[in-house]
Amino acid sequence: MKPQILIVEDEPAIADTLLYALKKEGFNVHWAQLGGEAEEWLSCHSADGIVLDVGLPDTNGFELCKRIRQNNTQVPIIFLTARKEEVDRIVGLEIGGDDYVVKPFSPRELVARIKAILRRASRSDDIAFQSVAPSLMQHDANRQCIVFSGEAVDLTLYEYRILLALLERAGHVLSRAQLMDAAWSDPSASFDRAVDTHIKGIRARLKSIRPDLDPIRTHRGLGYSLSLS
Ligand code: CA
Repeated sequence: MKPQILIVEDEPAIADTLLYALKKEGFNVHWAQLGGEAEEWLSCHSADGIVLDVGLPDTNGFELCKRIRQNNTQVPIIFLTARKEEVDRIVGLEIGGDDYVVKPFSPRELVARIKAILRRASRSDDIAFQSVAPSLMQHDANRQCIVFSGEAVDLTLYEYRILLALLERAGHVLSRAQLMDAAWSDPSASFDRAVDTHIKGIRARLKSIRPDLDPIRTHRGLGYSLSLS
């Protein structure tokens, strides 16, 4: 799966440059021109990284960052700003930004910064994942099955693909669209509700092995995540 980046920037010329540079580097990119648009998009998609302009017509990047952090404490956020002093004080403090670049910037620099914060994010995920996951759930690639609490989980093909997608990104919220992409080669042939049905099936199988655990979490309006801690 290509990493998904959300760009929130009201100036089309800057957004275009970024879209071009990021797509060339193999990212999926969604552009929102307004803060409201970005929030709407995030209510049904998930991003691996967000590039957030500080000066937006309908809100400012700091406010938007705070609101995004209420629902998603993990996603790396990089600010775009015209004034260095403004961000310097704030990034990493109460706002929770991960990095910033000052306009004008070179697209190449921004892409490098994005790659760096994504690497940091995935490293900390790996560590968290390794410390809890191996005992509880693993993917047995040879047998094409998922082992939960020492037992192979009896899953249909779609359930297997969905649970594998969740396992590979344990701790992350995956939208129904992302789970559909993982499970069906032609996602347009299916509906959102089908994902819910398969999740229900997966939960029942996991429960039959460990009635005391329910590792799949529902995030209303967002999707599902796997929690193994
Ligand atoms: Ca702006």
